[in-house]
Amino acid sequence: MVSGLTNPQALECRECGARYPVEPLTICEECFGPLEPWYDLTAIDGVDFRKHVEAGPPTLWRYEMLLPGGPGVERVDLGAGFTPLRRAERLGERLGIEKLWIKDDSGNPSNSFKDRVVSVAITVARAFGFEAISCASTGNLANATAAHAAKVGMPAYVFCPDDLEVAKLVATEAYGAKVVAVRGSYDDVNRLCSEVAETLPWAFVNVNMRPYYTQGSKTLGFEVAEQLGWRIPDHVVVPIASGALFTKVHRAFRELITIGAVEDRPYRISGAQPGGCSPVAQAFAAGTEDVRPVKPDTIARSLAIGNPADGYYAIRIANQTGGAIDACTEDEVVEGIRLLAETEGVFTETAGGVTVAVLKRLRERGVIRPEEETVALITGNGYKTIEALEATLEPTYRVAPSLEEFLSKLSS
Ligand SMILES: *Cc1c(COP(=O)(O)O)cnc(C)c1O
Ligand SMILES: [Zn+2]
Repeated sequence: MVSGLTNPQALECRECGARYPVEPLTICEECFGPLEPWYDLTAIDGVDFRKHVEAGPPTLWRYEMLLPGGPGVERVDLGAGFTPLRRAERLGERLGIEKLWIKDDSGNPSNSFKDRVVSVAITVARAFGFEAISCASTGNLANATAAHAAKVGMPAYVFCPDDLEVAKLVATEAYGAKVVAVRGSYDDVNRLCSEVAETLPWAFVNVNMRPYYTQGSKTLGFEVAEQLGWRIPDHVVVPIASGALFTKVHRAFRELITIGAVEDRPYRISGAQPGGCSPVAQAFAAGTEDVRPVKPDTIARSLAIGNPADGYYAIRIANQTGGAIDACTEDEVVEGIRLLAETEGVFTETAGGVTVAVLKRLRERGVIRPEEETVALITGNGYKTIEALEATLEPTYRVAPSLEEFLSKLSS
């Protein structure tokens, strides 16, 4: 298969290290381990890398040296990435964390971090010559896939559970994608997509394109380090659905350290799951790396993966770095959304509520110490999951258009 990709230089098995050509492969033939893009890091100088990045566009593609691509490969680019890293002073004060940052991915083109992974996956899919794009989605991926496909006029087929949040379904339809609403959970959708991927010549961004897709997740880690002045923080808190983002934040830091773009120092990565779907947090609490699938029942729909592909690797990384993986209650999800909105003016979706709620718990449990510089990844936008708040919030005053009535209510 001629793709024109000069990056990465190979695919490598995460388990046994066997190398494969850069093709639409996902699994090692020797040991069934997952395949990952391999870059020759010895050929990249950290100082050159930083210069190249700083001269690049204000998007995730500024990290092109460590992303799939190459000369002549046409990017599918809506401008995802390079989102704000916000110093969260008021939230930090409330939680008792002296140096707290919010990495705010809610302002991406389709309003979640999924624009990063899709921009990379569709770019690679087109280089491979696929003519249709598809995905198995918990909602945000549907939006991102549909949006990027629209940008290049590629047919898109988006599979998702049929009971998703209205905003996510409607936006996907507005972008012109064909929506396949499946009566079942995300895990059912994912299984169906694996079968479709073997039957039809489509690129599924998170199935047969998965090794390339997760490269987009690395860019969140790159950005955190760059925006801190090429420095790795003490602690990062990451929401977990499949666990891919979690593992790739670690990978990003390792790559930056290996090429010498940042100083090697200890850091910890902690994970956040909602109580109604917390298979990774449960395994972590039980002291095992063996993740038992669950049947999701949570308002954090974007994190509702009952059988997370990277759960095992997430636990290993949490243990290796001294982090923790914890879950919050469903009520705490809503409290987390409100706490972030009230203190920082950032309105996040349920996944962000989970991250903030678990951040709070980890601080209360002493896992995060007050003086640890901490970054929380806020991965989606609150306008997509209004349902979560509708029942709890309403106007403070209801009045006729009368000054008298308003003043009397105000003082009562
Ligand atoms: C998909 C998603 C995640 C996490 O995804 P992983 O599958 O763990 O990589 C986090 N937040 C939001 C809003 C998402 O849509
Ligand atoms: Zn292998």
